[in-house]
Amino acid sequence: MSTPLTVGLVGYGKIAHDQHVPAIAANADVQLVAVASRNSRAEGVRNYSDIDAMLAAEPALDAVILCQPPQARYAAARAAILAGKHVFMEKPPGATVSEVEALVSLARAANVTLFASWHSRYASCVARARRWIAERDLTRIDIVWKEDVRHWHPGQAWIWEPGGFGVFDPGINALSILTGIVVDPIRLLSAELETPANRQAPIAARLAMATAHGIPITAEFDWRQTGPQSWDIVVEAGAELLCLGHGGNSLTIDGVTQAPEAESEYPALYAHFVSLVQAGESDVDLSPIRLVADAFLSGHNHTTELFED
Ligand code: NAP
Repeated sequence: MSTPLTVGLVGYGKIAHDQHVPAIAANADVQLVAVASRNSRAEGVRNYSDIDAMLAAEPALDAVILCQPPQARYAAARAAILAGKHVFMEKPPGATVSEVEALVSLARAANVTLFASWHSRYASCVARARRWIAERDLTRIDIVWKEDVRHWHPGQAWIWEPGGFGVFDPGINALSILTGIVVDPIRLLSAELETPANRQAPIAARLAMATAHGIPITAEFDWRQTGPQSWDIVVEAGAELLCLGHGGNSLTIDGVTQAPEAESEYPALYAHFVSLVQAGESDVDLSPIRLVADAFLSGHNHTTELFED
């Protein structure tokens, strides 16, 4: 690996601008040299209209960061892998489980790092929650992830289309924390999805799950929440209670607030990506997207009122 790792970013939208570019700028081991985006340009780097043009013009790139919507992920990741680049994928790692498995196989054959990032797993209180859980016999887990789609995803047409995940776009963050803090495999028992009559993806979902040892888990995802927003996971172990709030960034244990301990999410993701490249390893955990796929496979779908942005 050259030092720093030279990277090209694809899909210069909200998350690229708000999180990736500042996290790269703050990491001396990574240098952003190019951006590929159809309608946007980034300052201070070479810009291309698409990944193929970027790969053709930048043979020295070490890695590619994919920040487009999931529907565009596979083709871009495949092109980057076949060009011999390490690949960092935003969540969710693809529009389907099978295409991500295909990428794992391609990356292995090309001997490059493939990183399916789950940023919420790096929220500041998640590691502490994982340690608390590891020392206890759990009795139940309840997830409530309710936010206002008009505030957080204004005008994002892709999110309502097939492969866009709808309310599972934020909901998969909760599932990534869940599958990151609970070691036992988790299976989906049932799902109820609510999909607006004029959309292809759900605006709300309720899941019932269980660990392999039978611990019940519920999840409520809803995009119609105005007022206070909820990104909470409550874990019960007998009479003891852990509440992970703010998407994993606040923690109370038995009512006592705990201090956050980790660095913020995107700097931690980049530190992990660099360490994976240095070690010649990949990190692709499909468990969050598998639960979402199971909800689409087996869930009851209820058509609900029209949604307009
Ligand atoms: P976004 O603002 O809509 O940006 C995505 C960019 O990707 C667009 O600006 C677009 O740029 C490019 N793109 C390439 N192919 C596209 C296609 N088929 N449809 C639409 N855009 C396409 O989305 P985002 O919020 O940054 O989310 C991107 C990914 O990051 C998603 O997987 C999301 O789950 C994840 N993420 C988002 C957030 C968040 O808070 N927004 C947080 C964490 C993770 P050009 O038109 O210039 O090509």
